[in-house]
Amino acid sequence: MAVNINYHRCKGCKSCHNHCPADIIGWDEERDIPYIAYPDECSYCGICKMECPEDAMELTLPMEGWLDLHKRFISKLSVPLEIRWPEES
Ligand code: SF4
Ligand code: SF4
Repeated sequence: MAVNINYHRCKGCKSCHNHCPADIIGWDEERDIPYIAYPDECSYCGICKMECPEDAMELTLPMEGWLDLHKRFISKLSVPLEIRWPEES
């Protein structure tokens, strides 16, 4: 699973559950803690991580995600072939 909750840090504020746009994060009413209900449908948008005040959400982008990012964005960046440092005066 590439989206995890660090229960050592989680304080049960419910922010991740309330903000996930895809309802991936369920809420365990009995234990008053979040859980990952649909891990395979997570889009790695990062909102849960940004909204967690305890830094308890752990996201690991899977390899397919990196390859997709590379295909869509990184390969289109223009990277200078040579770096020229300013000459000393
Ligand atoms: S990364 Fe986005 S889609 Fe995935 S659990 Fe967090 S808020 Fe939901
Ligand atoms: S936002 Fe963070 S602290 Fe709050 S319930 Fe979710 S994981 Fe726990």
